[in-house]
Amino acid sequence: MLDACYSPAAVQTAVDLANTLKPVKGEDALETVEQLRDFLDDHFPAESPSSAAGQGVRRRLSRADLAEVRALRETVRALLERASTDAAGAAALINDGLRDSRATPVLRHDHDRWWTEVTSDTDRCSAQLAATTLSALASVIATLGPARLGVCAGPNCRATYVDLSRNGSKQYCTRTCAHRASVAAYRSRQSPR
Ligand SMILES: [Zn+2]
Repeated sequence: MLDACYSPAAVQTAVDLANTLKPVKGEDALETVEQLRDFLDDHFPAESPSSAAGQGVRRRLSRADLAEVRALRETVRALLERASTDAAGAAALINDGLRDSRATPVLRHDHDRWWTEVTSDTDRCSAQLAATTLSALASVIATLGPARLGVCAGPNCRATYVDLSRNGSKQYCTRTCAHRASVAAYRSRQSPR
């Protein structure tokens, strides 16, 4: 059921969660409960039809929630970094995380439309977020393969990405990083040795 398809929005939520930490610059956009609330508002809009998980996270947030989500971020980043070289290790992280979050697939119906999503049967914010993000990455691995998860090749970046493109040749997190790298390569070819 999980590998039937992936939700691009849920995949993006996983990548965005991992990238709230910028390891090269040492910047962290998930240091306060307020920042956590902003992240959840951005990724689980209240009007979205698929906001069942959003309702779970849209309760009073505490420092404990923040600590749990930060721990989840470590897991999501680790598996994005590791999947292409250690798929079994990444799978273990996903399976442990899904089990810990009590992830449960559910079938939903609204306005003549049916869809499935994976949610948590707990009301913990981190568990809802884990169910959403880990199941999305599991679906990508199952449908496109573990090599689609990666880390930007930009020398000063280290942002994570998931490559959902048709040919699967992504190496950089953004066009900006790809452009920067090609300019740097060009300059190094031009410079006298
Ligand atoms: Zn990058």
